[in-house]
Amino acid sequence: MSNRSIGLDDRLYHYLLSVSLREADILRQLREETAAIPQAGMQISPEQGQFMALLVQLTGACKVLEIGVFTGYSSLAVALALPKQGMITALDISEEWTAIAKRYWESAGVANKIDLRIGPAINSLDDLIAEGHAVGTYDFAFIDADKENYDHYYERALQLLRPGGLLLIDNVLWGGSVADETIVDADTTAIRALNRRIFADQRVFVSLLPVADGITLALKLNEPSRN
Ligand code: SAM
Ligand code: CA
Repeated sequence: MSNRSIGLDDRLYHYLLSVSLREADILRQLREETAAIPQAGMQISPEQGQFMALLVQLTGACKVLEIGVFTGYSSLAVALALPKQGMITALDISEEWTAIAKRYWESAGVANKIDLRIGPAINSLDDLIAEGHAVGTYDFAFIDADKENYDHYYERALQLLRPGGLLLIDNVLWGGSVADETIVDADTTAIRALNRRIFADQRVFVSLLPVADGITLALKLNEPSRN
């Protein structure tokens, strides 16, 4: 028994999947197609997709923001969990990778729920904020694009979320390198800085889960917390 998060060796990981992963066929097909791409490691794991789908249902989220689409696994997992009137604003810079995503969104019958905006995500977020009516309206947001811009994405996603909205930030443990001060590359430094900043940020209630590569859950508070 352990009161710390348990490490997963291959056997335990496969056991976990065998008793909990209920992956829709369309998600499995997308994962298999993505596996042939050299950058396949960027895709979230299927159990993380299922966890996000659970969170969407648990929170009753309807309006979702995704920053970092790639071939669309996370957006598809979330779209399948959304109610009929649900919407995802999905941001990515790559036409090539999101062309795969669009194909699967079509096949799954959820393409009408996803508003894909191609371009640097900072610009797309600033456009959304400038539109005015989007600020404070999102129920759920997922940050999973280039790590150097995480801080910019965090600030903007927080503006777009409603009070009580939930923000997920992916890869916050970055393979463990955040805890090794000798590692000072730009991605690690950016993630480390954001982790520290969120820890001190009274606008959110936070929990960092050692799930997959580390996921921070940040709940946007109505008022800054006093503790
Ligand atoms: N959430 C995705 C999934 O479940 O498969 C994985 C996203 S992948 C880790 C990161 C994505 O961020 C890539 O698709 C990449 O094109 C995108 N990206 C990188 N730099 C970007 C930028 N400046 N603006 C928008 N998207 C960017
Ligand atoms: Ca990721």
